[in-house]
Amino acid sequence: MTTPWYGAIEAGGTKFICAVGTGPENIRAQVRIPTTTPAETMAAVFDFFDAQVKEVDLAAIGIASFGPVDLHKDSATWGYITTTPKPHWANANIGQAVRDRYNVPVGFDTDVNGVILAEARWGAAQGLNSAVYFTIGTGVGGGGVIDGQLMHGLVHPEMGHMRIPHDLQKDPYAGHCPFHQDCFEGLASGPAIEARWGVKGDALGVDHAAWELEADYIALAMMNIACVLSPQRIILGGGVMQQAQLFPMIRAKLQTYLNGYIQDAAILENMDTYVVPPQLGDVAGICGGLALAMDA
Ligand code: ADP
Ligand code: ZN
Repeated sequence: MTTPWYGAIEAGGTKFICAVGTGPENIRAQVRIPTTTPAETMAAVFDFFDAQVKEVDLAAIGIASFGPVDLHKDSATWGYITTTPKPHWANANIGQAVRDRYNVPVGFDTDVNGVILAEARWGAAQGLNSAVYFTIGTGVGGGGVIDGQLMHGLVHPEMGHMRIPHDLQKDPYAGHCPFHQDCFEGLASGPAIEARWGVKGDALGVDHAAWELEADYIALAMMNIACVLSPQRIILGGGVMQQAQLFPMIRAKLQTYLNGYIQDAAILENMDTYVVPPQLGDVAGICGGLALAMDA
């Protein structure tokens, strides 16, 4: 019997990455496509998979997409990106277009849900019952698994838009979320850092005051997450988390904010393994697609 192959699409605001594989150690083909218009980008996605299905059978395709997205299986717009402010992409049909063309089961979810599913299967959350993943990049988003299942509800969690305390004396920057101004994303995303300090985050020195403030916002948000969801591990990724000095600062602040209230060794003694970077690195998004395909 031959291995079943799976297709994966990591649909991002800057690029789509398509791949065929079975997991992080076995990816047989991969392509990177710029996110321009849905018609142009999807045509390139189809070119890639059209060529792949001539060579191998795909058991399913998984799509981990920027959002918000419609995840309701019985909705007429399942598989669509919904209210994104990104030009051309509001109401873009991705999931149904792929399903109709290849006639295989299609798993469709948010990019962060894809990553946490992959980290739970192959990465930093293996063997745990519950964990969350946050990306802190152009936007801020979070996804979670409980007992191996992704968190779904009315739609999907929008953890990046939780409210956190904003001390205007300490940080007069108003925030940049177009919907809520100074929500977590509005205060802590890469563009918020750039707008507040006048330069991109990667141009700020490791000792810059920006990182103390950034760590504070992330720790406040993770206090909410620890209290609301009680995850066994918190994984923090995305461009801003390339600033590795943030990790010890976030761990210390989170412990201070929780103040001994959650009585578990994970927090009281093992903070270094409670808040961690992702393990899958560059292939996390693609593996998210593969994991969604396997579950489809
Ligand atoms: P995206 O969220 O678009 O998928 P990223 O996760 O790479 O992509 O996030 C991009 C954001 O992260 C940008 O706002 C960028 O300025 C910021 N960023 C990227 N690299 C770094 C870095 N080394 N230090 C701080 N900020 C960074
Ligand atoms: Zn918001």
